[in-house]
Amino acid sequence: MMPGRLKQKWDALEESEIRDLQLRKLRRFLTNHVQPFCGFYKERFRQTGFAPDRLRDFDDFAKLPFTSKKDLLNTPEHPERAREFVLIPDRQRLARRPSTILRAIAFGKSAAKAALEREYRPVFLTATTGRSTEPVSFLYTHHDLDNLTLAGRRLVEVFDTEPEYRVMNLFPFAPHLAFWQVHYGSVESRLFTLSTGGGKVMGTDKNIQLIEKVGPQALIGMPTFLYHVLQQMLEENRRCDSLKRLILGGEKAPAGMRRKLRAIAEELGSRDVQVLATYGFTEAKMAFGECPFPHDSEPAGYHLYPDLALIEVVDPETGRVLPPGNPGEIVFTSLDSRGSVVVRYRTGDIIDEGLHYERCPFCGRSAPRLVGRISRNSDFREMHLDKVKGTLIDFNELENMLEEVEGVGAWQVELRKANDDPMDMDELLIHVGAAESADQEVIRKRIVRVFEERLELRPNGIEFHSLGEMRELHGVGRELKEKKVVDSRPKAEGNPKTANQTEEAER
Ligand SMILES: [Zn+2]
Repeated sequence: MMPGRLKQKWDALEESEIRDLQLRKLRRFLTNHVQPFCGFYKERFRQTGFAPDRLRDFDDFAKLPFTSKKDLLNTPEHPERAREFVLIPDRQRLARRPSTILRAIAFGKSAAKAALEREYRPVFLTATTGRSTEPVSFLYTHHDLDNLTLAGRRLVEVFDTEPEYRVMNLFPFAPHLAFWQVHYGSVESRLFTLSTGGGKVMGTDKNIQLIEKVGPQALIGMPTFLYHVLQQMLEENRRCDSLKRLILGGEKAPAGMRRKLRAIAEELGSRDVQVLATYGFTEAKMAFGECPFPHDSEPAGYHLYPDLALIEVVDPETGRVLPPGNPGEIVFTSLDSRGSVVVRYRTGDIIDEGLHYERCPFCGRSAPRLVGRISRNSDFREMHLDKVKGTLIDFNELENMLEEVEGVGAWQVELRKANDDPMDMDELLIHVGAAESADQEVIRKRIVRVFEERLELRPNGIEFHSLGEMRELHGVGRELKEKKVVDSRPKAEGNPKTANQTEEAER
């Protein structure tokens, strides 16, 4: 067996084989690449006495402290923190490596040098879309672009696409993972792919014209943007009967949103559309996807690539690694990255039903899966709704609730201060776009009831708008990402948050 090669396909290994493979790859990756070449981890391993070459099992690995989002941010002592996570090889050490020497003997020195450049020289980057913090850049070498492409090809397989599918990529054109994951994966899979750059680059109308012209089988983008595009097509009495897959990424994809998207696609003339979600983040430098599933079932979860990444699920309070099937926080370690790398990186994402190793009931793959709803720790916000105490509100739950309310097409939550006074209480206002035929009073009552039942609070106001007005409020065609939560609370003395700041989950 070639070192680093899978003797079987990535999605056909049994749990014990997966664990063996991951431990071997982890030991080799940390010993040969991370410890010698990565400033942050070299120091961290030294401080904690962690010796990767002596890694015996996953209990050993669990002794290594987590890396957090905070570790990636600049400080006065570390003004270029993200650079410390980049593998910067030591020329002399590389020159002594047996593979380098062999390559130099067989193909000449310049070929050996080119291979090292391909492996280690950064040529590409994507960045987080942090709005409350500086974006953090993650660098890719050619080796990483190969892995990004490989992950993309696997996504195409998991989505069960046909070779003749035409793909339209509606993700915003930006140095963000989603756009490039689709581009590399789809083109390499030899699928015709048109990347429009999303609403901000071309405007909604142009996107719609291109959809009509191309007749795509797969439409890929952020759920809210896809919703507005398809909804506008419906309002303009257009048809689109070619769709087979709507692939969602870049933000959460609540069940209610998926149902709405499928219903609109059906009204446009596309029956039996699979609405499938992806899970990816900048630090992973790849994304994972769901396979098609029967409409009356829950999705089987995100199919992971066990040879490229190690995913742990840990107790968010204690940090203890949890056995499969338990809800907890997703922790990511790359097994084959160059450029920027993270080890035991806490994503802040909570997975409802944890990690599963049994065969997927729908596609039969035995790759591990992350099953259930993913919610973000950062989506809990403190609000002062009465004079006595602050209330912690789960915006994950709020989003799911609003997507479920019958008759609600699009929505936006606005946080305000009563009387626009920074010292006064917080207020929660819901903007709702409903179908013209819908009864607003009925919808208002439904929203109030679900808020009282599940969040034990009443919204301070519910305002109705046309779906066109909701597109304006969301900034469709203007923003890279539609604004679903707007914080209009004026800035108080000593409060670092600025007015009108939208604090979305940072991807
Ligand atoms: Zn599956």
